[in-house]
Amino acid sequence: MPVNGESLRKILELEHQKGYLDSAVIGGLDRFLRNWAGPALESITTPRHANRFRKLRLNDSNYASLTKKQRKEWVTSVLDLLDKLEHGEQKKSKARPAPVVSKPAPKPRRQPTTTSRSIESPITTVKGISSSLAAKFGKLDVKTIRDLLYFFPNRHLDYSQRKTVSQLTEGTEETIIANVWQAQEIRPGGRRSTEAIVGDETGNVRVVWFNNPYLVRQLTPNTRIVLSGRVALFNGRHVFESPEWEPMEDKELNHTGRLVPIYPLTRGLYSRQVRKLMKGVIDEWACQVADFLPPEVRENCQLLELPEAISQAHYPDDATIKDRARTRLAFDELFLLQLGVLTKKRHWQEDQPGNPFRTETSVLDTFLKSLPFELTSAQNKVLQELLSDLEKSQPMSRLLQGEVGSGKTVVATAGLLMATANGYQGAFMAPTEILAEQHFGTICQLLSTTGQQKEQEDYLHSYTGLLDRPITVALLIGDVPQVKKQELHQRILDGDIDIVIGTHALIQKEVEFHSLGLAVVDEQHRFGVAQRSALRQKGFNPHVLAMTATPIPRTLALTLYGDLDLSAIDELPPGRQTIKTKWLKPTQRDSAYNFVRREVASGRQAFIICPLIEESEAIQARAAMAEYERLSQDIFPDLKLGLLHGRLSAAKKNDVMRHFRSGELNILVSTPVVEVGIDVPNATVMMVESADRFGLSQLHQFRGRVGRGQEQSYCMLLAQNPSEIARQRLDIIESVQDGFQLAEEDLKLRGPGEFFGTRQSGLPDLRMAKLSDIALLELARNEAEKLFAEDEGLEKPEYALLNKELARVWTTEAGEWS
Ligand code: ADP
Ligand code: MG
Repeated sequence: MPVNGESLRKILELEHQKGYLDSAVIGGLDRFLRNWAGPALESITTPRHANRFRKLRLNDSNYASLTKKQRKEWVTSVLDLLDKLEHGEQKKSKARPAPVVSKPAPKPRRQPTTTSRSIESPITTVKGISSSLAAKFGKLDVKTIRDLLYFFPNRHLDYSQRKTVSQLTEGTEETIIANVWQAQEIRPGGRRSTEAIVGDETGNVRVVWFNNPYLVRQLTPNTRIVLSGRVALFNGRHVFESPEWEPMEDKELNHTGRLVPIYPLTRGLYSRQVRKLMKGVIDEWACQVADFLPPEVRENCQLLELPEAISQAHYPDDATIKDRARTRLAFDELFLLQLGVLTKKRHWQEDQPGNPFRTETSVLDTFLKSLPFELTSAQNKVLQELLSDLEKSQPMSRLLQGEVGSGKTVVATAGLLMATANGYQGAFMAPTEILAEQHFGTICQLLSTTGQQKEQEDYLHSYTGLLDRPITVALLIGDVPQVKKQELHQRILDGDIDIVIGTHALIQKEVEFHSLGLAVVDEQHRFGVAQRSALRQKGFNPHVLAMTATPIPRTLALTLYGDLDLSAIDELPPGRQTIKTKWLKPTQRDSAYNFVRREVASGRQAFIICPLIEESEAIQARAAMAEYERLSQDIFPDLKLGLLHGRLSAAKKNDVMRHFRSGELNILVSTPVVEVGIDVPNATVMMVESADRFGLSQLHQFRGRVGRGQEQSYCMLLAQNPSEIARQRLDIIESVQDGFQLAEEDLKLRGPGEFFGTRQSGLPDLRMAKLSDIALLELARNEAEKLFAEDEGLEKPEYALLNKELARVWTTEAGEWS
């Protein structure tokens, strides 16, 4: 039976801590030992251990007479021997400080068991995953074993550098290997917790696990454990507070002593449990993942093999290989994205005949001459690109990027006019009813400058003067009365209406076109995949012009929209002003209100964007009403305020906007629905509440609502308690006016997922790839193009796996993307 050396050990540890002054026990160590050694020896029953014990000559020590150095050596050797006695010979002797991570044992290449489990099997086939646990994983979109393999940690904690107790520094994350001397339940502040004293040859340290009394049972004295966590100082002594721990055994570590993965969790999933499960799954399955990347690509780009990359991304041997693993996985995402986009472009161009338009120069000239302004040279350049696309017999697929206010609408209108001149219909789809109505107004106004108005109803206008017949323009939104709507549907079907402007009401199945030739999609990022392709289905391969005010760096745009041709209006009409932008503290709200009052007094108008409570329209609407009440009663009782939110009927919205535009209202209180497109030149103040809740591009869009006229305009951003990252955003928007630069900053700060909403845009998910990593983007793009140039259909047998992966990533829905 091993000797229980606990009390001796504690004393020796203390002696070490106190610097070998023989002060650990009253009366000195020698006296203590003489009393202790006799009974201790008697308790040892194994002769071999008894012998070793005797050799220590503890009953006959003369510690008091040793030098400090000798004392130190003696204490260390006694502790060492105690260790052996306690653990028996089979356990390893006390480990010396060294990197903790032992080489992983060769991974068992388990054959798939009797049943045909594959990586596509549901996770319930994994040992230890019950259906209730599977449901929790389901919340994180993890359903199959493959999903688990691709369920990557958010980050890793670096617990790979082992320290001794004497080397611990407070305030840092440290890892030690230590023996448990004792563990007990304590109740600091009433919280049932576990306290343990652990130590190594250099000293002891206290460990506390708050709110967890159950560890006492696992931490039996003399267990050897690895601890990783933050070291704090309590009453002048080091203490580990709720560190990760696990027994030091002869197998790979999971939670400590290495780069430890931190997984995304959800209610009912715990990190230790997830880590343990993941480790098992990776060890069994990562080696079974087929590497779909052609070997020459992998070699060119010096990428890890896929199974290696997957397991190193979860449980990396070190930081370098972790980075390489992430690079490989990010490359995969971008490479597949590129290949998918290139494939789509090829299909689109090969298989689809379109309707070429003749450019009717005289019609176009009349139109352009009638405008109250000259096109900027950027607008002219884009118009030429547009016209030459429309002349082709392949359907156009063009993305027009242009800063807020750069004048995209007029260019699109010229395109719609060409469709009409060629006997085709045009459609213009906007993301909200307010915008659709506004565009209806704008486009009618643009067409009316030459011709005369012939027919005028609420939803239907008609203009002569441009063509040898009147051009009929209709507005189709959800709010049009049913009878009227049916009439519009019929006239669209008959080809009696030339240009239809609307919301997604345009793509409902009741709407059938006689001959749709050009579809314009405004603020295209606001639409889902299905909506854009539905519009495309409305005609015989109509030309499609998508427009966006979200400027995207070119490399990125090529990657994301590689199947579209790109145009950019990179110049604002002359005379556009800088909008003075200021981020205000909550205490400055009153002066902000005063400022609004002064602007109103001098005849200007203001927007006030309500605090963003939640993404729900209903809740937003209620919050907006409350804010509207407050502002009208308490702050601006003498002014005329209007209220705009998503829950108002279209007629009501229309009224409010009309009153605001005509100047009858001084202030428009609104939810973020005014974000895009609204054009009211007399408005000079944009005040945004809870500005910290919006992204840079969104703030830039808000700001773009003012500064549209001659007067100096202002943007005031209020933020209650901005986070660090929100502060950065606010600083940037204060100093940067250029939307392009802002988009890049936004991308850096928010990451691509949030920025583009890749899900809703129908792109494959990007988890590892950062779209801001331009170098990798270009590498992936080059490789994809090389492969494509060599074998466009990817038909060679060696690309079979790659094709399969491509089909898997680009699901049907994603494949239909624009
Ligand atoms: P956006 O690109 O944001 O959709 P719009 O098409 O709404 O921009 O144009 C913004 C404003 O600029 C409109 O009032 C429009 O009449 C005006 N505009 C467009 N082009 C020019 C130009 N070349 N010169 C002056 N004003 C222009
Ligand atoms: Mg616009």
